[in-house]
Amino acid sequence: MQELKSLCVFCGSRSGSNPAYEKETYALGKLLAQNKIRLIYGGGNLGLMGAIAKGVSDHHGNITGIIPEFLNKNNEPSNFSNASDEIFITQNMHERKMLMFEKADAFVALPGGIGTLEEMVEQLTWAQLGQHKKPLLLANFGNFWQPFLDLLDHMKAQSFTYNDPDIKLLMAATAEGILPKLNEALQSSR
Ligand code: AMP
Repeated sequence: MQELKSLCVFCGSRSGSNPAYEKETYALGKLLAQNKIRLIYGGGNLGLMGAIAKGVSDHHGNITGIIPEFLNKNNEPSNFSNASDEIFITQNMHERKMLMFEKADAFVALPGGIGTLEEMVEQLTWAQLGQHKKPLLLANFGNFWQPFLDLLDHMKAQSFTYNDPDIKLLMAATAEGILPKLNEALQSSR
């Protein structure tokens, strides 16, 4: 049985207007630490990126931050506290995203902006093209992703989506719902 050992979290570099976003993000960080699942993320300390890292580090979990050189210059000093925490500085965004992909067993997109959307859609595209079978979940805190789900329905109605039954976009409304769904998907993919 394949186990979830590392989770790549895509999320906003801002916190958003709904306080539930930050609360659920921190809760997910805590759950990762408690379940000994390494956080793979963009390495920043701002917004939801900061909240997920704090949730993990406050509960003595493990973090891998992957940040391009040009963003690292503006980053505040990291609050990584565990000896096994690691930070990778990449030359550019492409290298960063490839490293995030390689190091993660699964992906979660929390609420965020254009950067989060791009990272999540890239993984969805790669799955659609048969380049990976790693689970991908939308954390639908406060129903944040509904407009994106509506767009997918629209694409489907207009016959632009593939009908591959292997490509499943998982959903969870709260932090608590995320890990069981990812573990279930990993087990059934074996
Ligand atoms: P957004 O959803 O538009 O806020 O973008 C989030 C994504 O932008 C993150 O996953 C990172 O790829 C990147 N990003 C933006 N600002 C930073 C930062 N200060 N440190 C690290 N990554 C950042």
